[in-house]
Amino acid sequence: MPTLLQLESINVFHGDMQAVFGVSLEVAPGEVLALIGANGAGKSTLLRAVTGLTPARNGAIRFQGEDISRLPAEQIATRGIALVPEGRQLFPSLTVEENLLMGAVVKRAGHWNLSTLYALFPILHEFRARPATLLSGGQQQMVAVGRALMSNPKLLLCDELSLGLAPSVVEEIYRAFSRIRADGLAIVLVEQDVARSCAVSDHLVCMLKGRVTLAGASEAQSRDRIAAAYFGE
Ligand code: ATP
Repeated sequence: MPTLLQLESINVFHGDMQAVFGVSLEVAPGEVLALIGANGAGKSTLLRAVTGLTPARNGAIRFQGEDISRLPAEQIATRGIALVPEGRQLFPSLTVEENLLMGAVVKRAGHWNLSTLYALFPILHEFRARPATLLSGGQQQMVAVGRALMSNPKLLLCDELSLGLAPSVVEEIYRAFSRIRADGLAIVLVEQDVARSCAVSDHLVCMLKGRVTLAGASEAQSRDRIAAAYFGE
């Protein structure tokens, strides 16, 4: 299968501090890749590098064959990469619907619009005129996912969707993923729950202290191997 996203030996820094060391990985169209690792492993930094928010200092980031590593974040979004950021980062003064429409600022054609999103998460239709920050955490996460989908991306990057949410809401959001994947959207998922990460993904990449310690098919990984890669034993 052709590669959608390819990282080649990227190094990413926060000021003087290096957070990602020579990471290479690939994502195919329609694939779900789970990125796991302990706090501070560099997962969020890697996602930020792909979206251009914290550009890689060197190495290559190719999307559909084009090196995007020097492009500004807006142009990367226009090419079809959307991020659901850690902590959701909704616009507090805007309603649910206005938050969703912010995603459509990136004008790309595709399946997702207000009506298809409301069909995916009906509760958002009910609360569409409310300030987004008055919703529950899970509903806010639906808004954050919806806002990203409104740009009709080819690649969706999700940073810790389930953090701090009730298990039933997490289930609901992950159930929606089968619909979200239906159009061939590729997803990179950062998720603390390792069992869930394995269950929902095709491939797994584990990071430790900014480096990849394990990469392969999710179903082929034993618990022991994952634990060793996760904790560096
Ligand atoms: P978490 O699960 O805690 O989000 P993570 O795997 O996503 O962990 P990152 O958030 O990418 O890890 O952090 C990687 C390293 O970069 C950590 O040492 C962290 O302290 C550091 N770091 C992250 N963001 C910044 C920043 N804005 N400024 C300085 N250092 C940062």
